[in-house]
Amino acid sequence: MLGWRALKTIIHWFRRDLRIADNVALHEAYTRGERLVPFFCWEDGLVDGPDCAPARTEFFLASLGSLVRNLEALGHRLVVRRGTPAVELRKLAAETGASAVFANRGYEPGGRRDDDAVAKALGAVSVGFQTFKDAVAWEEREILTAAGGVYTVFTPYSKAWKLRTPPPARPKLGKARQPMPPGIASAELPPGVAEPRVPTGPDGVPAGERAAQQALDAFVVERVFAYAEARDYPALAGGTSRLSPHLRLGTLGIRTILARLAEARARATSDAARKGCDVWLTELVWREFYQQILANHPHVATRCFRPEYDALGWSGTDAQFDAWRAGQTGYPIVDAAMRCLDATGWMHNRLRMIVSMFLTKDLLLPWQRGERWFMQRLVDGDLAANSGGWQWSAGTGTDAAPYFRIFNPVTQGRRFDPDGEFIRRWVPELAGLDAKAVHAPWEGPLAAAGARYPRPIVDHAVQRGRCLAMFKAARGA
Ligand SMILES: Cc1cc2nc3c(=O)[nH]c(=O)nc-3n(C[C@H](O)[C@H](O)[C@H](O)COP(=O)(O)OP(=O)(O)OC[C@H]3O[C@@H](n4cnc5c(N)ncnc54)[C@H](O)[C@@H]3O)c2cc1C
Repeated sequence: MLGWRALKTIIHWFRRDLRIADNVALHEAYTRGERLVPFFCWEDGLVDGPDCAPARTEFFLASLGSLVRNLEALGHRLVVRRGTPAVELRKLAAETGASAVFANRGYEPGGRRDDDAVAKALGAVSVGFQTFKDAVAWEEREILTAAGGVYTVFTPYSKAWKLRTPPPARPKLGKARQPMPPGIASAELPPGVAEPRVPTGPDGVPAGERAAQQALDAFVVERVFAYAEARDYPALAGGTSRLSPHLRLGTLGIRTILARLAEARARATSDAARKGCDVWLTELVWREFYQQILANHPHVATRCFRPEYDALGWSGTDAQFDAWRAGQTGYPIVDAAMRCLDATGWMHNRLRMIVSMFLTKDLLLPWQRGERWFMQRLVDGDLAANSGGWQWSAGTGTDAAPYFRIFNPVTQGRRFDPDGEFIRRWVPELAGLDAKAVHAPWEGPLAAAGARYPRPIVDHAVQRGRCLAMFKAARGA
């Protein structure tokens, strides 16, 4: 019998790919090696860093727990170590006799730095390090303009993206063929690595790979057909897929999603249903667009895509920021959205657009402050989508809404929460108001509605004028 060191051993380093199905690097490690060592590195600040959101941490812990159990069911054991990836992977490679480490690529600056450090540390001891495309269908240098440049405008990027056939889903991980070498210790997992939590209310998102697959099944079987009309109404349960936390953490593979969407589109029996599928695909392409923007232009994480806007003369105050954060601005749709975010870690896309536009263009506060707050709260907080979304609203980004496009929060509320149902759910002070008054309580009998609700902290019309002047000054106009 061969000694365990003679077996070709490959370590799979789990990062933002906490799943056993449709996982490119994991599948390659399993099929190319004789023994698989699944590994996760518990880095400092992972669950208690300054930008950790409580909901995202809970979601992560539950997803990691689900991964541990899914691996165990197939006879694999996840090795967890505390430290830095470069150091821990090098040690583990020596302990297990691994010839290579496989991992899926990340597109954030931090992930790239880790890749470089790991490649160097493993290279020094002649252990291979191979990374794979997994989180996206197409990477940052795969969809290029005719001149070979990268796209910075969404519509032509999306057209080019849709001309290609996406890569197929990879098979689920198989049973362990060889036991783990003896004496490979694992760090103890914190008690938070529990059973995936069940939905806690209309705005809770259940975690784990099975929950992700169930959420996808539930969406593509029917709801996707109504997506084009339903997606803009926050009060509507199920109008959108709620898959963003799973995409962010990798509990669901993008190839699986795209394949299921193509099947759904083939089943669609009306133009409206086909449109629902097409509009949803466009949203998935937005995700890839922002990933490629971040990979090609990493400065967008903290600075404006357009450098001329780094000089914008933001003039909002800390007190206004605090009122926005706490859902106390006096604009009901903004306050409902912000309270929902604080309580659940979730915010509907339409509301993200409304509150981000309000912070930047009504309160005249820099988008970076809102972007950080979102990261500290959102269950799906993702650097690429978040900085992309914030810069879109602020008018400082690649494919931004033009700077002079400014949402009126009252009109937005009336249009997308017409009965005021979402507002009443999160702003109980306004529960007694009818559908007309609930969007602008200061116009009606505010006292009857409950004087506890604040009057608007700014006048939208006045702030609009100030915002336009601020942008004109920065543009030198
Ligand atoms: C200011 C602002 C901040 C945002 N921050 C984030 C963030 O931190 N993380 C995040 O995942 N999304 C972010 N978005 C994008 C979008 O709001 C969410 O992806 C969406 O609300 C998630 O809900 P869903 O899964 O039901 O989406 P669906 O409508 O079902 O869409 C399917 C998937 O497409 C992707 N997607 C949809 N819209 C966008 C978009 N505009 N940009 C990029 N990807 C998109 C998401 O992965 C989403 O899960 C932000 C948008 C704005 C305006």
